Amino acid sequence: MKILIVEDEPKTGVYLKQGLAEAGFVTDLAGDGRDGLHLALHGNYDLVVLDVMLPGTDGWEVLRRLRGAGKDLPVLFLTARDDVADRVRGLEAGADDYLAKPFAFSELLARVRSLLRRGKAREPEVLRVADLELDALRRRVTRSGRRIDLTAKEFALLELLLRRQGEVLPRSLIASQVWDVNFDSDTNVIDVAVRRLRAKIDDEFTVKLIRTVRGMGYVIELPEGG
Ligand code: CA
Repeated sequence: MKILIVEDEPKTGVYLKQGLAEAGFVTDLAGDGRDGLHLALHGNYDLVVLDVMLPGTDGWEVLRRLRGAGKDLPVLFLTARDDVADRVRGLEAGADDYLAKPFAFSELLARVRSLLRRGKAREPEVLRVADLELDALRRRVTRSGRRIDLTAKEFALLELLLRRQGEVLPRSLIASQVWDVNFDSDTNVIDVAVRRLRAKIDDEFTVKLIRTVRGMGYVIELPEGG
């Protein structure tokens, strides 16, 4: 799960980033609305924590443009004061929830989790290709009805491939979504992980589902005639 934090106060930003990372999320921090909007539009996030008071492009504008572009990912608004007018304005503008500063981190975390659960309900819980099934909520994978045990990273990798089935995913995208880093130089990490995943889901089966696209990346799909 990947979260974007848009917050101009460095102390709060770093505090949020560290806290969410410790809670197991992959996080990016944008220090102003312009960067935040750019990342939110192009970065494949599951949720945005958005400060309202930002220099230049403020939180309202970021939210307006995000929704205008058809992005419906959950947005948790942070405001400096608990003001009813602000709250109503935020919810009307398309924010999913709202938290007034100062807040306890535990409350933010609870709201983030609740928004992500709501978001998840819109996505299919069981992802399938051919006879391979991944149950995202029960965290279970089977092929031809046989249970397959995966490590957390292998599971995340397979889930990503399945959610974007048929799409060739570059190693850089896999690195940023599954690992919290950009392996610009060392894509070997991805290749090793894919090899291990293949050993578990493909090696024993006639029909191979994960395909390497030379110079581009990996895709999961039912091969033609398969
Ligand atoms: Ca601010």
